[in-house]
Amino acid sequence: MVLDNDRYVLSGGVDPLQLIEEYGCPLYVYDSAIIQRQYKRMENAMKVKRLQLNYACKALSNINILKLFRKMGSGLDTVSVQEVSIGIRAGFDPQDIIFTPNCVSLEEIEEAVEYGVKINIDNTSILEQFGQAFPDTPVCIRINPHIMAGANAKTSVGHIDSKFGISFHQMPLVHRIVEATGLKVEGVHMHTGSDILDPEVFLSGAEILLNIAKEFPDLDYIDFGSGFKVAYKPGDVETDIEELGSRISERFNKFCEEYGKDLKLMFEPGKFMVSEAGYFFAQVNVIKQTTSTVFAGVDSGLNHFIRPMFYNAYHKITNISRPKGKARFYTVVGYICETDTFGINRQMTELQEGDFICMHNAGAYCFSMASNYNSRYRPAEVLVHEGQAYLIRKRENMEDLLRTQVEAPIFDEVPAVK
Ligand SMILES: *Cc1c(COP(=O)(O)O)cnc(C)c1O
Repeated sequence: MVLDNDRYVLSGGVDPLQLIEEYGCPLYVYDSAIIQRQYKRMENAMKVKRLQLNYACKALSNINILKLFRKMGSGLDTVSVQEVSIGIRAGFDPQDIIFTPNCVSLEEIEEAVEYGVKINIDNTSILEQFGQAFPDTPVCIRINPHIMAGANAKTSVGHIDSKFGISFHQMPLVHRIVEATGLKVEGVHMHTGSDILDPEVFLSGAEILLNIAKEFPDLDYIDFGSGFKVAYKPGDVETDIEELGSRISERFNKFCEEYGKDLKLMFEPGKFMVSEAGYFFAQVNVIKQTTSTVFAGVDSGLNHFIRPMFYNAYHKITNISRPKGKARFYTVVGYICETDTFGINRQMTELQEGDFICMHNAGAYCFSMASNYNSRYRPAEVLVHEGQAYLIRKRENMEDLLRTQVEAPIFDEVPAVK
């Protein structure tokens, strides 16, 4: 979104205020041009013979977004059999989908096998059971390289106490299981979690994975997961994808030479692909001045947008109703009966009740984490593509809220007249 004279516009000149008028508020809007730009950047950064980028669709799982990725040539990274199912429905070839669950049942993995997708296993118990049940289905093994990515314990999943992956110290057990069951290992994988700031950390994890890869003679791919960071505020460090790409490609190509085969290099970015493409619009209901603070209370809350509260994430906030004006400070809060602060002491142009604000970087882990808490409807989603806006999810209504509720025939008797 850029400021064009006196108004904010999305790509193709689309006016967000018009979208709000048409589709209501609060509203999620995604700009496909930004998703395409990010995909191309990553694709161009990796200079290898065989590359597959598997979009981690838990970040933003609307089927239209999945179709956009399919059109760009992307694969899909999925963490539940429901995501697998949506991916198939979006037209992905099953072999372009990888199923990377954690702590799911063998039954769920069996369902994924029936879909024909790639299977990634992250614990030795399931590996053994899987090997006995499906010795002929090739698998990928998720390794925990024990590195700490970023400082956030909620998003770092590759450290020693993490529940994810098989510790690389357990490789003797993995080999014993593979030998005993006759399993074919076609890939090795690591995913260290979000927020990789330092290519060095990423490369040292990669080194561990490559060492393990050497021990498996029949590999087809090596999957380095994700963890690519994007900038949320000015001055934020984002993963230098061009630098990282050139270094990892060089290392990977050298490895393939030693291994004697052109393996496929895989990544599974979520946030990097869609974060910046998303905008979340809300309306200011109340300006409330207390003794210490000026609050701007909006028609949304942690039910629609939980990242600031759950991860302490910073999301830039803009007053789009008044692009020009004097700057004031506001603490932007939601309408949920919990502390749901979007941003503390944020400077923006003077807000009035009824104004619309935009929260930026709302593409990844925003709508997909939305709930119906406080019996609120989840918002509509709009995709802006080549200058056109498309409604890709309707706002919920009371029928949606009640659809799965069953009114048991016990409380409906007519009250007795006294
Ligand atoms: C969530 C997830 C990703 C995507 O992580 P981002 O930080 O959004 O890029 C990739 N791989 C796996 C296995 C995941 O669970």
